[in-house]
Amino acid sequence: MLDIALLGVLFVAIAIGYGLGFRQASRRSPETTPTNSGLSRDYFVGLNYLLNEQPDEAINTFINALDVNSDTVETHITLGRLFRSRGEADKAVSIHQNLLARPALSDATNAKVQLELARDFVALGVHDRAQRLLRTLLDQDHDSELRYPAKRLLIDLLEREKDWQSAFDTAAPLFKQYPNIRRAAAHWQCELAEIETANASRALAKRHLKKALQLDPQCVRANLILADLDMDNGSYPQAISRLTRILDQDIAHLPTMLPALKRAYQRNDDVVGLETHLNQLIEVAPYTSLIIELGELVHHRDGVDPAISVTGELLSRAPSLRGLNYLVDLYIESQRLQGRDSPDTRLVLLKYHTEALLKDRPRHRCLRCGFTSDALQWQCPTCRYWGTIKPIIGVEGE
Ligand SMILES: [Zn+2]
Repeated sequence: MLDIALLGVLFVAIAIGYGLGFRQASRRSPETTPTNSGLSRDYFVGLNYLLNEQPDEAINTFINALDVNSDTVETHITLGRLFRSRGEADKAVSIHQNLLARPALSDATNAKVQLELARDFVALGVHDRAQRLLRTLLDQDHDSELRYPAKRLLIDLLEREKDWQSAFDTAAPLFKQYPNIRRAAAHWQCELAEIETANASRALAKRHLKKALQLDPQCVRANLILADLDMDNGSYPQAISRLTRILDQDIAHLPTMLPALKRAYQRNDDVVGLETHLNQLIEVAPYTSLIIELGELVHHRDGVDPAISVTGELLSRAPSLRGLNYLVDLYIESQRLQGRDSPDTRLVLLKYHTEALLKDRPRHRCLRCGFTSDALQWQCPTCRYWGTIKPIIGVEGE
């Protein structure tokens, strides 16, 4: 059965056939009767390999059939891409280096092949060589259409190397035109702030966070780190006010900021303030984490039965699986406190089902590509966008 790789080879074979046929035709005198005999023997051998589902042999034969010249250079580049997509980037490197060794290549084609070669090196994991090649390309090439993809690739490599400052400096000219790069840059500033915080350089960390918010006023992460810095400084009201700003930035991140909000009130020894604040929040966003937090406050202060009453009422307004699981826990505890040796079997069964449904259920999802994870990650490991992973809302989530 033909797979995608074979279809790719078939496409290249057609391109080669067209290229060879065209060259032969242009060499023939007008009186010559057109025939297929102009195509090289290698071309037919390659086709034969292809029809016998031997793509490696087919590709090697097609390469032999092709001279490098202005008619065929695109086909060589396509073959290189095909190898790379098949996981054979070393073969792609050979093709692209072979092209670059030809002195007759135009500057534009040379730049195009250099970019392909850099992509091959990335695929091979040779990031330093890819970086050097891309920097040379960007130094030489000032205004071609290749400049943006070359820069994006270099930025991607610098991100993978966690060289946040170099990524920022390289991307800076693109901030105005590309909001997604500006959003990413805000996160690079947050990364730098976290490094400075670990080095106890609070002033430098704050400078990075201020820059992050200038780049992206919706950067939730910057306010979260700033609130942590405020708390370390003992400025709890300031931390609370900063965390409250996160809800204006993106209400979906309420569950993200909730642990920090709780910490700020607790360190300030203000449990009453925390309960008042949570009760205000639940009116605008009755998320499960918030319901459980309120349930726990009542649980610790008034005992398990008032907690059941409060949690049950809140869950009737915003039902969720995790909330139900918490409520069952409270019922089981209530029965234990009433002196029962073992809880009602119906409760145990219900608990078994809610636990089973919650098992391996992710808490966060990337809004761009659908990647899911339990913990929040600021950069999606699949689509590599920043700030697109958010808490899952609804019956199965918050
Ligand atoms: Zn994603």
